[in-house]
Amino acid sequence: MSREDYEIVIGLEVHSELSTKTKIFCSCPTEFGGKPNTHCCPVCMAMPGTLPVLNEKVVEYAIKAGLATNCKIADVSKNDRKNYFYPDLPKAYQISQYDMPLCEHGYVEIEVNGEKKKIGLTRIHIEEDAGKLNHDDYGRGSLVDLNRAGVPLIEIVSEPDLRSTEEVDLYLKKLKSILEYIEVSDCKMQEGSFRADVNVSVRKKGQKEFGTRIEMKNMSSFKSILRAIDYEAERQIEVIEDGGKINQETLRWDEVSGKTFSMRNKEDAQDYRYFPEPDLVAIRISEEMKENIRKSLPEMPEKRRERYVKEFNLPEYDAKVLTSEKALSDMFEKANNICKNPKTVSNMIMTDIIGYLNAEEIEAKEIPFTAQQLGNLVVLIDKGTISSSIAKKVLQEMFENPREPQKIIEEKGWIQISDEGAIKEVVLKILEANPQSIADFKAGKDRALGFLVGQAMKETKGKANPQMLNKMFLEELKK
Ligand code: ADP
Ligand code: ZN
Ligand code: MG
Repeated sequence: MSREDYEIVIGLEVHSELSTKTKIFCSCPTEFGGKPNTHCCPVCMAMPGTLPVLNEKVVEYAIKAGLATNCKIADVSKNDRKNYFYPDLPKAYQISQYDMPLCEHGYVEIEVNGEKKKIGLTRIHIEEDAGKLNHDDYGRGSLVDLNRAGVPLIEIVSEPDLRSTEEVDLYLKKLKSILEYIEVSDCKMQEGSFRADVNVSVRKKGQKEFGTRIEMKNMSSFKSILRAIDYEAERQIEVIEDGGKINQETLRWDEVSGKTFSMRNKEDAQDYRYFPEPDLVAIRISEEMKENIRKSLPEMPEKRRERYVKEFNLPEYDAKVLTSEKALSDMFEKANNICKNPKTVSNMIMTDIIGYLNAEEIEAKEIPFTAQQLGNLVVLIDKGTISSSIAKKVLQEMFENPREPQKIIEEKGWIQISDEGAIKEVVLKILEANPQSIADFKAGKDRALGFLVGQAMKETKGKANPQMLNKMFLEELKK
C-alpha cells in the first residue's frame, strides 16, 4: 500500500489570547512584553489567601466568539481546576473549564476547491494563560516571568474533521479572520497570542474507526504546523506499513531538523484531577445577555464580500481577497472613502501591498502607513499628478519610511510631467535620436511607437504623462 491509500485525520485545539485590557481573575494589564514580573499582583502570582474574581469581559468575548462560529451558548457554565505541576504555573493548577464550557457544537465553514465544508467545533472554553520560562543562555537555570500568567485565553477545540494540510490552512486562516473581525483577539502569531495543539492520525481509506493520534503542543506558525502534519502523516504511514503500531503520545516538532521527537506519554483527563473551582461561583448567561452580544456582532467576511460586489462593482475574486483579512478590508474601505476609486485601491492592495507583505513576511495589521495615506495616493494618480508606475515607487517608500504620499513625491521630485511644452521637448529629442524607429513606424510597424514611448519614459525617469507622450508621438510621426 502507498500513501494514497491512507487518509489523514487532524483535530486542532486553538488557543487565542483575548484582547481584554485586564487579566481574567485580577486587574493586572494583559499587555504583551514589559519588564519581567511587572504586570503581576498577588492574585496572578498565586500568593496564598488571594481570591480570583472573574472578568466579565472575558465571558462576553468568549460568547461573541461562540456566536460568530455558530455555537450553542450555555445557560449555566462553570470554571474547573486543571491540576499539573510546572514552574510557569505557580498555583500548580490552571483555572479552565471541564464539563460545562461556555460554548459547544459550533462550526466554521471553509471552501475547499470551490466546495463548502463545515468543520465542527466541539467547544470553546475560557481559561488562564501560564507564565513564561526564560532559559538562561549559559546553562545556569531558568527564570520565571509571570507577566503572561492570568492573561485570558479561549480554547477552540475542533472535531477531527480536517483531512489535509490544505484544509488545516484554510480552517486556521478562517478562524483567525473571524476572531479579528469580532475584535476579541489580535491573533499576533509572533507574540504567541494565536497558537494551536495539533492532533494527527492516519487510517486506511474506507476504514471507519480513527487511528491512534499523536499531539504536538503549542505551535505558533502556520508554516511549522503544515510541515509538522506532513511529516507526521508520512511517519505514521511508514510505521503502520512496517507492521508497527502508533503510540498515543505528545511529540515535539523540531523546526530545524524537520522531525518530531517523543516528549511524554499522553496524559488523560484523569491525570489532571479536574474538579470544580471552589473560589468562583457558576456563570449564568441570560437570554438577554446572549441577545445583546449577538446584536453587537459586526458585519462578517461573507456579508462584506457580497456587499463589495454589489456596492463597489468589484469582481468576486477581489472581494474575496480583500475580505479575507479584516485589516485589509478596513484599509480598503477607508482608502476608498477618500478617493472613491474602488478598483484602483483594490488593485494596489491585491498586487503591491499583498506582494510586499508576502515578500517581507509581515501581517496586514502591521502595515505601517494609514488607509488615509493610501487613499491620498490614489487621489494623486487620479488627478494625474503621478503616473501609476511612480505610484508603485511611492508605495514602496510608504512601507519603508511612512509619510504622506504628497510629501514623498515632492521630496523625490516624482511629480508627473504633464506640461505640453516639456513633453514636446522630450518627444522631439527621442525622435531625433531614433530615426530607425520613425522609418519602422512609417513602414507600418506599430511596435515602434511603444519603443519610442518607452525611451521617453526612461529619459524622464518615469515621470512623463504616458497618455500625453503617446498622443504627441503620434502627431509628430504623422507629420
Ligand atoms: P485532549 O487533548 O485534552 O485529550 P480531546 O480528547 O478533546 O482532548 O481531543 C483533542 C483534539 O484531538 C480534538 O481537536 C479532536 O478533534 C482531536 N482528535 C481526537 N481524536 C483524533 C484522532 N483520532 N485523530 C486526529 N485528531 C483527533
Ligand atoms: Zn494580577
Ligand atoms: Mg489536547
